[in-house]
Amino acid sequence: MLRHYLEVKAQHPDALLFYRMGDFYELFFEDALRAAPLLEVALTARGRGTDNETPMCGVPYHALETYLGKVLRAGLKAAVCDQMEDPATAKGLVRREVTRVITPGTLSEPGLLDGKEENLLASLRFAADGSGAAAFLDVSTGAFFVRRLRDAEEALEDLELLRPRELLASAGELPAAVLRWAERTGVCRSALGDEEVPRGRRAAELVQRQLGIATLKGLGLAEGELAIEAAAAALHYARDTQRSELAHVRALTVRESDSALLLDPTTLANLEVLRGLREGGRRGTLLSVLDRTVTPAGGRLIKEWLRRPLREPEAIRARLEAVGELLADGARRERLRDALGALGDPERWAGRAVLGTLTPREAAALRDGLAHVPAALAELATAAPALLRELAAVDALADLHRELERCLVPVPPATLKDGGVIAEGLDPDLDAARSLARDSKRHILSLESRERERTGIGSLKIRYNRVFGYYLEVTRANQHLVPPDFIRKQTLANAERYVTPEVKELEEAILGAEERQLALEEQHFRALLAAIAARAAEVRRLAEALAAADVLAAFAEVAARQRYVRPRIGEPGGPIVVRDGRHPVVEALASDPFVPNDLELESERAQVVVLTGPNMGGKSTYLRQAALLVLMAQAGSFVPAAEAEIGVVDRIFTRVGASDDLARGESTFMVEMIETARILHHATAHSLVVLDEVGRGTATFDGLSLAWAIVEHLHERSGAKTLFATHYHELTELAALLPRVVNRTMAVKEWEERILFLRRVVNGSADKSYGLHVARLAGLPATVVERAGEILANLEAQEYDLSGRPRLAKGNAPASAVEPPAQLQLFAAAEEVVARALREADLERLTPLEALNLLAELKRRLS
Ligand code: ATP
Repeated sequence: MLRHYLEVKAQHPDALLFYRMGDFYELFFEDALRAAPLLEVALTARGRGTDNETPMCGVPYHALETYLGKVLRAGLKAAVCDQMEDPATAKGLVRREVTRVITPGTLSEPGLLDGKEENLLASLRFAADGSGAAAFLDVSTGAFFVRRLRDAEEALEDLELLRPRELLASAGELPAAVLRWAERTGVCRSALGDEEVPRGRRAAELVQRQLGIATLKGLGLAEGELAIEAAAAALHYARDTQRSELAHVRALTVRESDSALLLDPTTLANLEVLRGLREGGRRGTLLSVLDRTVTPAGGRLIKEWLRRPLREPEAIRARLEAVGELLADGARRERLRDALGALGDPERWAGRAVLGTLTPREAAALRDGLAHVPAALAELATAAPALLRELAAVDALADLHRELERCLVPVPPATLKDGGVIAEGLDPDLDAARSLARDSKRHILSLESRERERTGIGSLKIRYNRVFGYYLEVTRANQHLVPPDFIRKQTLANAERYVTPEVKELEEAILGAEERQLALEEQHFRALLAAIAARAAEVRRLAEALAAADVLAAFAEVAARQRYVRPRIGEPGGPIVVRDGRHPVVEALASDPFVPNDLELESERAQVVVLTGPNMGGKSTYLRQAALLVLMAQAGSFVPAAEAEIGVVDRIFTRVGASDDLARGESTFMVEMIETARILHHATAHSLVVLDEVGRGTATFDGLSLAWAIVEHLHERSGAKTLFATHYHELTELAALLPRVVNRTMAVKEWEERILFLRRVVNGSADKSYGLHVARLAGLPATVVERAGEILANLEAQEYDLSGRPRLAKGNAPASAVEPPAQLQLFAAAEEVVARALREADLERLTPLEALNLLAELKRRLS
């Protein structure tokens, strides 16, 4: 046995091997040592005390899924080796085979999957020049698409966005940045053997055969392309681990970047679209506000829509049109959502039918779900918007539903092993076998009473045990009444056990009937799975259409509850104008009423908005709100505003807050500059750029100069619509210098030394930061706030002492302040700054214009 075990293990070196022995799955050697603590089971040994002592541990067969869950959560893989014949009848060693390899990226067991998450395997290929391709496959649903990648950076964006559960790639081929990402996230990594990786012609054929197509041209792909090789590798790997042809994987799409509004991972994270910045959960996210979907597939699709909103105005308008109808017709929406809510997850069940792992209970759930499809489709088909009617134009799979109805009992048991799955009336043979098996008790009782009558033994009983089968039991006292045709089998202390030919006959009939029933049920159930598998592609199309309907209805539902309005969608680059806009998440979570605000971004006059205002004034909220409204509108959702016009944008960039990425070994300021660099390189005249306090992470002058130059660049070069929040009031001067820059500020009211945040965006600029007020609100000790107030007053009044150092406070300055520490040189007198600047100026290199500018700047400082 162990020899066979080792043979199998050699084929699955990187998976924990679960080896079926009787009622347990056992693990041996290294696997046992590794698994015992992970699975929290006892580590024992086989052949203890001998030379061949072997560590082992085991889990009961019926609880396998639970333990597989633990393996997967640890990012490991498992191979399941089952008994392929009945140990009771097998001669010699029971034949065993690996029936499936479970890996995080190829899961299909509902118990191990999150219904609302995709479960993607990512297969990556890279060429020597750094370009590459990625194929993404969801084995549980059959979703399959490829992306062409310009470079490692684009690969990282995709990985970060799609968060695959497993990475399939040759280690030698992966760019260092991707390797680092894999290490950081702990994603499960796999590779095919070198000779296994499908290349060139072989890869193309594999893909064509899988999709049942004769040429790749229709897909927009070509033989020899990395995308095809990546797709082929994913298929090869998934088919191998699942031991299945994956008949539900029948379509492959190429996802081009240009068809979607591009949101890089930083922007998605900053705007908290799918995950919160702090805890990483759903709370406080746009998704948490908008996701009112009622199906698991709808839950998966809404994420996709928010991650990749649209860019094509007509396609966006089509979605909004559909949402509008479902909003206006509340009764239709309710009927549609009721029907969808009963649908379940047909896409995943069909996937499991293909893999042969669908349970009777899931098959019944598929049947019950399909029962509601006609009602859902009817609501779509009779609606006015073209998109809804298009969604209704799918096969409702009435024939498959009928077949499921015909074959299954109303409420089947969880597993096939005890029978009772297939409906009565489907197969007369099965019915006969079942009735015999079920009526065995009655047959036994009737034989028992006949024998009592014949022999006159009132206490005679027919019983069953595993050794003798059925037998007659007669107490010692009645032995003299036993007839001669009773054949004695066993003597007990106070009874004798017998059989008769008639008892044996009945026994054979009963046991045979049970076996036959199970065999027939299994046969019919397999046929049913095949019938589902044959329609897997249609189930997928139906599920996709209904998922889209679910998301549209969810948008309508949110719009109704939150009083959202339909945005007017303008052409790319057109103005973005919002009246009384609200932040969808802050509005939903905060207890205080939200103060609505207007926004106007427009390429002729108001391309760049410089937003100043006090701390806590609401600047960040306003910035994110603008970006979220555009994102929502382009995803097809209504928006929280009184009115909105959205000129379609091609990308949204954000640089918000200081997100330290210490794990990547980069300082806050470095990250800030890397992100800003990306924005300046990639933003176009059709992009929306949101910058919050860029330049804050360094010394004041450096930061201010950078911020100034960045705004100039966006204004002059890229032409991107920009919202720039800053505490550098100097930046508001830009509005006077550059024609398309405007100033806005968050209004506050000062009242008895306190300030009131009005959260209202108004024209103009702030002259104060109110940082000290906020510090007081935050509970900084009163002495510190007071002292800071004195320093601020001195700085603002530019009161310096004779040595040119600022006098830090009037009156009783603490002793330490008499000799200011070195860092306070930052506040050195203007003369000193000017003198230093002159000393450091490199006249050899200065152009006349720069010299003039320098002179002007020095003079400005002295005045
Ligand atoms: P800082 O400069 O300190 O980063 P900020 O100006 O960016 O501050 P925000 O963080 O946007 O200010 O907002 C401060 C608080 O005000 C938040 O708690 C937010 O929920 C609330 N807030 C912001 N805008 C509004 C609004 N329009 N209506 C009601 N509450 C708001």
